[in-house]
Amino acid sequence: MIRPRFLLGTLAALAAAGRPVSAAETHTMTPDELSLANRILAHENVVDGFGHVSVRDPHDAARYLLARSMAPALVTSADILTYSIATDEPFDPQGRVSYLERFIHGGIYRARPDVNSIVHSHTQSVIPFGVSQVPLRPIFHMAAFLGGGNVPIFEIREVAGDATNLLVSSQPLGDALARTLGAANVALMRGHGMVAVAGTLHEAVFRAYYTGRDAEIESEALRLGNPTFLSPGEAKAAAATQGGLVDRSWALWKTNVTPN
Ligand code: MN
Repeated sequence: MIRPRFLLGTLAALAAAGRPVSAAETHTMTPDELSLANRILAHENVVDGFGHVSVRDPHDAARYLLARSMAPALVTSADILTYSIATDEPFDPQGRVSYLERFIHGGIYRARPDVNSIVHSHTQSVIPFGVSQVPLRPIFHMAAFLGGGNVPIFEIREVAGDATNLLVSSQPLGDALARTLGAANVALMRGHGMVAVAGTLHEAVFRAYYTGRDAEIESEALRLGNPTFLSPGEAKAAAATQGGLVDRSWALWKTNVTPN
């Protein structure tokens, strides 16, 4: 059962994210749906043995759900832990180990009340755009959520020097990543990967998937030479139509993975 206080908070947050949200969407932030998201992201090559996806707890907006430290393809509902957004520590781990980079999730949830789901991945196609002078931009309509400007890049050296292991392994680093993300839907992490955020789990998965596809297309188009990108107006108009289409992809992707 969804507590009214949470439901109101979630609907307000989703409304702030820019589009109306159905009651059905607020019911997708469950351990079952999150475990499915893990397996979908793995099957679609957004994540491999590493990477993770979280949702804000549907019963308490001050908590988030995240799997224990393991390969996303193997996650089941029994592997989902509940974390404090304030501390990034699990409430009842029962000996289960947490991801070293869980601080990504708390940092962004603390900074972005409109965000209810976060994907962190090492998607190979985005790496070149975090380490070169070529910005990642929306080059096809499915990645319109990348917005009118360049996708921001988190440079861990700016906050922690040039000898880190590149992992977001503390709350100060999570907060710094959230500052780089700002109001954007996606941020790259130099030499590491990316984060994609959204008001719903399904949309966060959609954005993570299409960020990778956009990077592949941009790399190919750059080889051909002088690509045309979406204009800020095109990005805004195309993104406005996407929210209602997200579940079509989800319905397809879930047929390819083990059901709950
Ligand atoms: Mn990572």
